[in-house]
Amino acid sequence: MNNYFVLLAAGKGQRFSQNKPKQYFDYKDKKLIQHSVDKALASKLFKKIIIVQSKKYKNIFKNYNKQKIVIIEGGKERNDSSLNALKKIKKYKPNNVFIHDAARPNFSNKLLTKLLKQLKIHKAVVPFVNSQDSVKLRKNNKYFNLDRDKILFTQTPQAFRFKDLYNLAIKQKKRITDEASLFVSNNLKVKFILGENRNSKITFPEDFKTSKIYYGIGFDIHKLIKNKKLYLGGIKIPYHSGLKGHSDGDVILHAIIDAILGATRKKDIGFFYPNTKKFKNIRSPKMLKPIINNLSKSNYLINNLDINLICEQPKVSKYRDKIIISISKLINLHKDRINLKGKTVEKLGLIGKEKAIACEVIISIIKYD
Ligand code: ZN
Repeated sequence: MNNYFVLLAAGKGQRFSQNKPKQYFDYKDKKLIQHSVDKALASKLFKKIIIVQSKKYKNIFKNYNKQKIVIIEGGKERNDSSLNALKKIKKYKPNNVFIHDAARPNFSNKLLTKLLKQLKIHKAVVPFVNSQDSVKLRKNNKYFNLDRDKILFTQTPQAFRFKDLYNLAIKQKKRITDEASLFVSNNLKVKFILGENRNSKITFPEDFKTSKIYYGIGFDIHKLIKNKKLYLGGIKIPYHSGLKGHSDGDVILHAIIDAILGATRKKDIGFFYPNTKKFKNIRSPKMLKPIINNLSKSNYLINNLDINLICEQPKVSKYRDKIIISISKLINLHKDRINLKGKTVEKLGLIGKEKAIACEVIISIIKYD
C-alpha cells in the first residue's frame, strides 16, 4: 500500500460569492473539506493525505492523526498546487497518487477501490460521467450539435502511477483544470471509468442546501373525566379531572406524534398504536420514543414546534415552562424551538364547558441527505 492522497483545497472559489473559500463552509454537519479527508482516511488505502490549503485554516485538522495528515501551502494555480504536493511526497517514493478536488465531497469508497484496481493495469485512471443535457459547440459564431454520449465530464479523484504523473507535471507550464489533461495533451493513454453522478462539484452557495424541509400537522381531543390523572406534554398537571383514553390521553404528545408522522409521511398515530390490549393505559412518552428514534435514524431533525392547547382549565400560563421543558427532553429539541399557546374557546361547546381538552400542533422537520 504505497498510495498517497492529494487533496487540492487552495482555491478561492471565484464563483462562490462569500468572504471565505467554500471548502470551509459547513456542509452536512462538517466543513466541506473534511468530507474528502475523512473518506480517504476511512478507506485505509493511503499512507498519507496531503492537504494543499492555506495555513490559515490548518486548525480544522488539529485533532487529526498527525502521522497521516500533511498540510502544505498551495500555489498560484491549481497545477502549481498539485505540483507542490507531488514534490512534497517524492521523498516517500510513492507508487500511486490520487489527486482530488475538495469541492467534491460525495464520492464513494467504492470509487476509490475501483480506481486503485484499474491502476494495476493502467498508468492513469480517471472517472467520468456523461452529460444529462444536450451539447452544442460554438465555433466562429456557428453552432454544431455534439453527440452527448461522446462527451466525457471528468471528475476527481483521479488516480495515477506517481512517476508518470510527476514527469508530466514538472514539465507543464500552462494552466490545466485536471491532471487527466496532462496525459491527454501528451497523447498518453488514460483509462476512463464510469464515475458517480452524486460526485458533482459544489460550486454555488445553493449547492449547500441539500436538506429538505417538511411540515406536519397534528390534532387531538380527549374527554375530561373526574378522578383521573391529567397528563399534558408528558408531565402530570394537578387538576380534578384527567383525560379519558385508551392511553393516558396526553393530547399534546398525541398531536406531536401525528405532526411528526405527517411530516415524514408515515400515516397516523392509530396505525402505530391501535386500541388493542397491548397499548392499554400506555404512557404517551413511551409512544413517542420509538417515533423519535426512527426520526434520527432516518436523518430527520426537528426544526421547530408550535402548539395550541385548547381548554378553559387548567390555565396554560401556569405550566407552560414545565411542559416545554418536558417536551424538549422527550423529543431532543432545544426549548427555544418550542412554543406553547393556551387558547380558550369563550366557554363555547364541549371544550368551553370543560368537558374536553384539544390540542393542535404544527412541526417543521429537516431531512438531511
Ligand atoms: Zn389522543
